Amino acid sequence: MKPQLPTLPSLLEAHWSRFLPLLERQKRDQKLHPTLLITGLEGTGKKSLTLHFIQYLFCDQPNGFEPCGLCKSCKRSLQNQWLDLFWLEPETGTDETKLGHHKIETFREIKSKLGMGPMEEPFKVVVITEADRMTPQSSNSILKTLEEPPPNWVFILTAADSSRLLPTILSRCMEIRLNPLQPEQIFSALKEIKASEFNSDRSKFASRAAQGSLSRAVHFLEPEVWDLRELILGCLTNPASEWLPLVEKLSSSQRVMFMGLDLIESVFHDLLQFQVQGGQNEWAHEDQREFLIQWSEKKSLTHTKIIHVLEAIAEKRKLVALTLNAKLLAQDILIPLLETILS
Ligand SMILES: [Zn+2]
Repeated sequence: MKPQLPTLPSLLEAHWSRFLPLLERQKRDQKLHPTLLITGLEGTGKKSLTLHFIQYLFCDQPNGFEPCGLCKSCKRSLQNQWLDLFWLEPETGTDETKLGHHKIETFREIKSKLGMGPMEEPFKVVVITEADRMTPQSSNSILKTLEEPPPNWVFILTAADSSRLLPTILSRCMEIRLNPLQPEQIFSALKEIKASEFNSDRSKFASRAAQGSLSRAVHFLEPEVWDLRELILGCLTNPASEWLPLVEKLSSSQRVMFMGLDLIESVFHDLLQFQVQGGQNEWAHEDQREFLIQWSEKKSLTHTKIIHVLEAIAEKRKLVALTLNAKLLAQDILIPLLETILS
């Protein structure tokens, strides 16, 4: 029986060359770097690989980089009984518009335990997820510990944007960068996640539209996205009658608005790639290729205009996070964007 693994085989394969051989060698030679920083876009597998790595680190008899799944440590890992693991997430924001930060109290608690050694496993591991959301105060409070970790303690930080970490923290860490995933890697991962519910056409669309992020691809598979896509394409064909239903639907909530912006962005990415590469790439909206080419020709859509729309979407996305009111979502965000697109 193949041991249960805490991450998807396709993710491991995607990041194998970057992530694994180095760490495997370090463990074998008992020279593990005590402060690791795993960086990469949202949805590239940072947390999932971190869990895999910890199980591997604790395992008595790993096979290559695969934990055996059978030893006492692996069983504890698989049952989530991690006595020697501290997994620190930032606080949840107080409302949808505020991102949370790591609480300084949590770090104080960790520091109070530094005198202790591992209880069951060869290492004590502290994971600080989204470390780029540590406040300067919490960063400073943990800095000394990262500079001189106690023996057999390993700190693993994950971050989407390492430039937001204090340089002094960055300089202590061995950084492992995860590349954005390729569409075919995302497609394989979706097959593993969705299993019997797997839909090949929609997964192809999701993996191409996701821009390297598995979690984005999973969002793109939600049935609602497909309906939204119909509305957006309908509005391109017939703005006079379809404009209003689209505005009403997208401004109904921040979540739907984000989905809509992602979709519109994916359409314009397809058109940009077509202009730059002459259509050699497969499209996210492959089934709409002819329609979108004709539409863009009719609109005389230039390269500059497409870039302008993509920039406007990035700008509007920031505003969506700050706007809760449906009327304002429509007025300040969606209508000006649609005017830019359809003008
Ligand atoms: Zn094991």
